[in-house]
Amino acid sequence: MLPSMTHNAHFIGNQWVSTLSGETLPVLNPSSGEIFARIARGNRADIDAAVATARQAFAGPWGRLSALERGRLLARWAEAILANQDELAGIESTDTGKPLKQARADVVALARYFEFYGGAADKLHGQTIPYQEGYTVLTIREPHGVTGHIIPWNYPMQIFGRSVGAALAAGNACVVKPAEDGCLSLLRVAALAAEVGFPAGALNIVTGLGAEAGQALAEHPGIDHISFTGSPDTGKRVAIAGASHHCPVTLELGGKSPQLVFADADLDAAMPMLVGAIIQNAGQTCSAGSRVLIERAIYEPLLERLAQRFSQLRAGPADLDLDLGPLVNRKQQQRVWDFLSDAQADGIPIVAQGEVVDEAPAKGYYQAPVLLRDVPPASRLWQDEVFGPVLSAAAFDDEDEAVALANGTPYGLVAGVWTRDGARQFRMARRLEAGQVFINNYGAGGGVELPFGGVRHSGHGREKGFEALYGFTRLKTVALRHG
Ligand code: NDP
Repeated sequence: MLPSMTHNAHFIGNQWVSTLSGETLPVLNPSSGEIFARIARGNRADIDAAVATARQAFAGPWGRLSALERGRLLARWAEAILANQDELAGIESTDTGKPLKQARADVVALARYFEFYGGAADKLHGQTIPYQEGYTVLTIREPHGVTGHIIPWNYPMQIFGRSVGAALAAGNACVVKPAEDGCLSLLRVAALAAEVGFPAGALNIVTGLGAEAGQALAEHPGIDHISFTGSPDTGKRVAIAGASHHCPVTLELGGKSPQLVFADADLDAAMPMLVGAIIQNAGQTCSAGSRVLIERAIYEPLLERLAQRFSQLRAGPADLDLDLGPLVNRKQQQRVWDFLSDAQADGIPIVAQGEVVDEAPAKGYYQAPVLLRDVPPASRLWQDEVFGPVLSAAAFDDEDEAVALANGTPYGLVAGVWTRDGARQFRMARRLEAGQVFINNYGAGGGVELPFGGVRHSGHGREKGFEALYGFTRLKTVALRHG
């Protein structure tokens, strides 16, 4: 059972453990701006306790389980999650402000990660390597040991699933520090892990602030691998903390992902994806398609279609299940306002805006979707991640200009290309600097099976798919001389 919403507890060793300091933090409902729960404010001592418990589990019952048994546990966990979909979606929606249908989709995605990694657990093979006469050389994939997972608030369940699912499948014990603005669903998911039979200590969650519990986790010498999703600045801090004890770090740091629309594109197919990729989760998606680059011949007509759609979009409380909910917190709302006021000062034209519905409480963190045009490549709006429902449009004349604009930010996470020209599809896929390129589709957030991650400021390392399993293992080479 989830501890009462005012309970002061971490999940350590399959138990609810009070925070050693006794301090708690309020949790606000983004739809209303009201406090609706409290969580434990974890600190270094709580992280010490969680890491020690995980180390015992790795050296004990959890570490001794076969890959097949780990896979079966993940599969059972997936079933339990789906059986509790309504409850989990309700918690996530209240905690983060995402519309209920999005929260329900996130529950399904979480279960899908555990299904995928449950099935993959016993298929993680090493290799044999041809070597000199008289030798047999082989490689063994071993778990790192205890892995640390720092999870953001935008998709708590999905990002937990992709990171913890792969780490557990590979045989690691996990210590998780979720964001204080998105941790309640994960506490319930952890309780389900205990219910389906995960040995104590395989999974541990310490709630609290990033600068306290998160930093302590990244610095902890008992952590053997860190997986972080969040902003480039915090990612840098986590990487430095990891380096202080020579710990490998995987960073997923968001993006400024472009969608390139050529004049020969199927615009009817593109339209819902151009809009969906920026309004999903109110634009608070690492792979949000936040820039649309349009070939000049269709710039005006496509902008007109986008404007028409944007003016119909409605933001409101999560339980009304509209096109988008509120932003997660006041800080995020202020961040979006700052970008929009800079854009206004730079004279960047707004083409269309959606609306915030009358039912939305005044203290909620709402932002109507906004479409802007002729956004200059040097502007902050074009270069930096807004993390809100703000779509920037610009025109291009040819492929070279499209590529230069698309690649001309510090980020490189995802790119979308819309064209019917087969040769161009391949040229664009090769020339765009991004971890994922979608041709005539755009998979914001989807694709459990598809390796995912960035280049440059979008981070390094790959999550999702089989590739993530390699990241959560270390390779040992065994050279046997037998004559
Ligand atoms: P952060 O990068 O600061 O937070 C991400 C995670 O890191 C949270 O769990 C946070 O915990 C934790 N954290 C914060 N500071 C530290 C630290 N010193 N050591 C270890 N962990 C830490 O992002 P914000 O929430 O401040 O959002 C700011 C911007 O970051 C957004 O506007 C967006 O652009 C980007 N972002 C990108 C995400 C992505 O999916 N790529 C996800 C979230 C944000 P806590 O929240 O409890 O402090």
